[in-house]
Amino acid sequence: MDMSSTVKYEVLEERKDFICLKSKGDNNLQCEKHSIAGSISQRACVYCGARVVLNPITDAWHIVHGPIGCASYTWDIRGSLSSGPEIYRNSFSTDLREKDVVFGGEKKLTAAIDEICEKYSPKLIFVYATCIVGVIGDDIDAVCKRAEEEYKIRVIPVKSSGFSGNKSMGYKAACKALLKLMEENKGDKKIKGINILGDFNLAGEMWIISQYFKEIGINVVSKLTGDSRYEEIIQAPYASLNIVQCAGSMTYLAKEMEKKFGIPFIKVSFFGIEDTVSSIMNVAYAMGDKQSVKKAKELIEGELIRIEPKLDFYRRRLKGKRAAIYVGGGFKAISLIRQFNDLGMKTVMVGTQTGKKEEYEVLKNIVDEGTVILDDTNPVELEKFMTEKGADILVGGVKERPLAYKLGIAFCDHNHERKHPLCGFEGAVNFAKEIDSTINSPVWNVIRQGGYA
Ligand code: SF4
Repeated sequence: MDMSSTVKYEVLEERKDFICLKSKGDNNLQCEKHSIAGSISQRACVYCGARVVLNPITDAWHIVHGPIGCASYTWDIRGSLSSGPEIYRNSFSTDLREKDVVFGGEKKLTAAIDEICEKYSPKLIFVYATCIVGVIGDDIDAVCKRAEEEYKIRVIPVKSSGFSGNKSMGYKAACKALLKLMEENKGDKKIKGINILGDFNLAGEMWIISQYFKEIGINVVSKLTGDSRYEEIIQAPYASLNIVQCAGSMTYLAKEMEKKFGIPFIKVSFFGIEDTVSSIMNVAYAMGDKQSVKKAKELIEGELIRIEPKLDFYRRRLKGKRAAIYVGGGFKAISLIRQFNDLGMKTVMVGTQTGKKEEYEVLKNIVDEGTVILDDTNPVELEKFMTEKGADILVGGVKERPLAYKLGIAFCDHNHERKHPLCGFEGAVNFAKEIDSTINSPVWNVIRQGGYA
């Protein structure tokens, strides 16, 4: 692509291959690479990637072996809800200091595990290795193994030194930790039912998805990891099908479970009507149960009758508005583009932190000519393309929110901090309502007229 025709001076030379403009003959995009130094990537570190995946296990104790900052930075990191234990909402740290860096932190880690075991009798502890632990070389495997033997519980090391890659490496480290947890269950036992991988129960979304399956008679064996428990996770190897909602974080686990336990998997998305409908039907068909297929059709029919009039109200108010998307994974971005299409809106910019090549291929096919597509972007590029493309709204996460507001652009949080569910049928209505209330808020006129943006 000749970037000079579309991208001017703000884009770093090394970043140009990670940006493309959908057009005939110009669709090459680099992705799945380390971030460019100096680019101010919006990605989180490896440890953070691991923590977001494992943290929603509600009865696990999460010990962050590192300086206090790593623990406070990720304290209660997701808005994942629990139907029971609340211990996961704490952030335990070994609080490594200079002396520990010089002499090693293994004693401190052992003391932290001992204290938790003696006072609280946990069943499961995760120990996260942060940057400095990778540098000083503490043997966390040995410390965890000793604790497992002494206390007869699971103490799982998570190899997540922040500098050892990017957020995707953290997802993989978390998947490896989950596999280690599942290894204790061997044998041929089978349970007819599904595991839900990659939903983190933000604002209770896991409960919405589980309820659909309950209504159509499909048993949920294990939830990974939203509102899950130790006892439930170790049942996962017995399930007959894995469904993967957050493909970015959980595809590795699904592939490994297929190899180790013979469980096939399908990718699903419960964001937007189109993807929710196809996901429910695909799971019903994959389970091969005629009764479930029949009930799934009835459920979908009933829900569509209920919500379509509500969506029509928002379609009228949003028609022709221009959306920019910057989210973690490609699968979510694809669902969001379809949702905006359904609302009569146009996606003018779309990017992801960790999208895969095949996801970008799908994404390119469903956006209009002229849409800017970005991988692992930075605030300068976001500002540039949102301004050039005249975006009315940015859908992103907590790091993108201030940028949108400073530019006088509406914002929708589709990540950790939201308090209302955006998945399933009800979530599609919530999404449309939020997009409408923020895009059509009178505050933007005041800001623009006042010259504040
Ligand atoms: S980059 Fe390193 S020091 Fe910073 S939060 Fe991640 S693990 Fe901790």
